[in-house]
Amino acid sequence: MEIFPEGAWAMSELRSALDDLAVIDLDELSSDAVLDLVGELTVTANRVAAALTSAVRAADRREAYTRDGAVSMMAWLRGSCRMAPEEATATVSTGRRLEQLPQTAAAFADGAISAAHARIITKAMTPKRLAKAAEAGIDLNTTDGILAALARATAPKETARGVQAWVAGVDPDGTLDDAADVRRRFTMASGLDGRVYVRGELDPVGGEYVHTALAAAMNGDRPAGDTRSHAERQADALVALARAALDGGGLPTVRGERPHVRVTIDLMALCAERGAAGFSGGSLGWAGPINPETARRLACDAGVARVITGPNGLPLDVGREQRAPSTGIRRAVEIRDEHCVFSGCDAPPEWCDFHHVVHWAHGGPTSCDNGALLCERHHTCCHEGGFTIRRDPGTGIWHTYRPDGTEVLSRAGP
Ligand SMILES: [Zn+2]
Ligand SMILES: [Zn+2]
Repeated sequence: MEIFPEGAWAMSELRSALDDLAVIDLDELSSDAVLDLVGELTVTANRVAAALTSAVRAADRREAYTRDGAVSMMAWLRGSCRMAPEEATATVSTGRRLEQLPQTAAAFADGAISAAHARIITKAMTPKRLAKAAEAGIDLNTTDGILAALARATAPKETARGVQAWVAGVDPDGTLDDAADVRRRFTMASGLDGRVYVRGELDPVGGEYVHTALAAAMNGDRPAGDTRSHAERQADALVALARAALDGGGLPTVRGERPHVRVTIDLMALCAERGAAGFSGGSLGWAGPINPETARRLACDAGVARVITGPNGLPLDVGREQRAPSTGIRRAVEIRDEHCVFSGCDAPPEWCDFHHVVHWAHGGPTSCDNGALLCERHHTCCHEGGFTIRRDPGTGIWHTYRPDGTEVLSRAGP
């Protein structure tokens, strides 16, 4: 590899400085020193990212990548530097657009702003928008100065707001948006264990609908002492939205039927005691096989459609109506229990399943006496986890028992 002498010397200096850093025992440093180091390294990392962007741009401009038979600088970065495709595209595109934004480029070069800031600014500077801005007499140099100053002073998120304001000013009706900006994509992939992986991107307006609905589902009735992370709560909210849509009947019918989650379970497996071996589990339409306890929990929840099969695999019983509590029974249980009855849980009725204390497969009736409100998490504890709940008929107090039979702690009844 041929590096011109100045470049070779500079890179060797940089490498030896990094070698010196690598041997420092960070635990020996004072807190002040280690924080200073983090600050310095952040600026340095920004400068290195800026130097990389400039070098990529130089190679891109003279099409140096053709030496190795690559079709573009993006392809060369992916192949020769093992860069992720989106990273390669962003580096090349940032380098190209920074040529028209000298003040942003300078802030990046001196390490005052990060690659994320530079990308947010350059990504908005599409040729169409720049043309429109020029037509409207908006001076690019002034824009560059304002956005560079904003990026120097704020986190990428706030910088993005400033950039959005510029975009809205240049293109108030959004007609210049590249097709990619309004396109939506959403994919779901199942792993071998049935877990589902989701990925996608939304346009700003579509994202706003989803955000608003998720935020409402997340914050509407957050129980006290909720220790779930933001990501966990957001995922629970997404599932709750889907359940509400299915339960509410607001969706189009599919082949004349109201769509709902459908669980198929073998009658013998359904009636077996918890933990009994030798029974196949059930299965779900999309996720495929599930374990018997999960199948029993879904069959316990009245909202789910179920298909119960006999020994020959043929359906014995299809439906949910006969074991669904009437609105009156459900309402009476909601008024009596007020929230999930599992010890220490305050999840509100709308989050709760109607649990049969004695499973209907074991002869438990769908009645107030045999019904209990359990949130999805605790419903899972009672079926898959082996916990049990029991209501003292005298005091009306619910008791929660661990799988070993010891009581968790009692809560006050009505
Ligand atoms: Zn249940
Ligand atoms: Zn609960």
